[in-house]
Amino acid sequence: MSFSGKVKEELSRQWSSARHCQIAELAAMLSVCGSIVIDSRNRYGIKIHTENIAVARKVFTLIKKTFNIESDISVRRNILRQSVSYSIIVKQHQDALRILQATKLTEEYQNGFEEIHIVNPIVVQQPCCRRAFIRGAFLAAGSMSDPEKSYHFEIVCAAEAMAEQVKELLCSFETDAKIVQRKKVYVVYVKEGSQIVDILNIMEAHVSLMELENVRILKEMRNTVNRKVNCETANINKTVSAAVKQVEDITYLRDTIGFEKLSEGLEEIALARLSHPEASLKELGELLSPPVGKSGVNHRLRKLSELAEKVRQEQGGLL
Ligand SMILES: [Zn+2]
Repeated sequence: MSFSGKVKEELSRQWSSARHCQIAELAAMLSVCGSIVIDSRNRYGIKIHTENIAVARKVFTLIKKTFNIESDISVRRNILRQSVSYSIIVKQHQDALRILQATKLTEEYQNGFEEIHIVNPIVVQQPCCRRAFIRGAFLAAGSMSDPEKSYHFEIVCAAEAMAEQVKELLCSFETDAKIVQRKKVYVVYVKEGSQIVDILNIMEAHVSLMELENVRILKEMRNTVNRKVNCETANINKTVSAAVKQVEDITYLRDTIGFEKLSEGLEEIALARLSHPEASLKELGELLSPPVGKSGVNHRLRKLSELAEKVRQEQGGLL
C-alpha cells in the first residue's frame, strides 16, 4: 500500500469523541466529495462519492454514530479503469436535512444536483474541530507522496473558495500551505518535510508520523555521510595535487641547479619527497633524521617551490 493509502487507513480508524469534531469532519467530507440531490418536490438527499474504501467506511460510520442514521452504500466496478467506487447515500429528506443542519450546510440550494463547496466558519471555530476538518478533507480528497521519494502533501478542491478555506485552516496551524490551479481544480499543497510531519500531527495520524520521521532521520543521516565523504575526497585530491606539484618543482631544481646548492635540510626533504611521492607531510617528517613536524616539512617544501619558481624566472623560460 502507498504511504498515502496507509495514512488514510490510519485516519479512517481515528475517532474523535466529541460530537462537534465528528460534525466538523463530516462537514469537510461532504463539502469536498459530497453533493445534494434535490427532487421535484424539493426534498433533499445526500450522496457522497469516493474510490477509497477507507473513506467510505469513515463516512458511513460518522453518519451512523453521530446521527444514528443508516445510509445506503452502492458499489460500482469500472472494468475499463479497473477501479471500484463507492457511493454513500442518505435518501430520506428528514435525515438529509438533519445532517445538513448540523453541519451548517443548509444554504439556498436550487433544484437538481448541488455541489457543496464551503463550510460555515462556526463549524471550524475550535482547534479540535479544525483538526477534524483537515482530517476529513484529506481523507476525502487528499494525497501524499512516498517520503522516500519526495515530500508532498495535497488536497484537491473543486472550487477556489473551498481551497481558500482548506488553506486558511492549514495556515492556522502555522503551516505554509499554498494553492495552485491544476486544470479545473484548485490544489492546496505543502512541500516541506517538517511541515508535513506537523500536518500528520494535526490530523492525529501518529503511526504514519513515526514512519515519516524515521524516513526523514535516515535521509538526513545519508546526506550527512555523503557530505563527509565528498569533503574527505576533496581533501585527498588537494593533498595529491599538492604532492604532484612538489615533485615537479623538486625534479626541476635537480635538473637545473642540482641538489648540491641546497641546504642540507632542503636536500634531505627533496630526496624524501622524490622517493615517497605519496607520503603525507607527517609521514615525510618521520622519514627525516631527526624527525621533523608537519609544519616544519610544509615550510621546507614551500621553500623548495619558491626556489624552483625563482630559478624558472631566472631561466626566462629557457628550461
Ligand atoms: Zn471539536
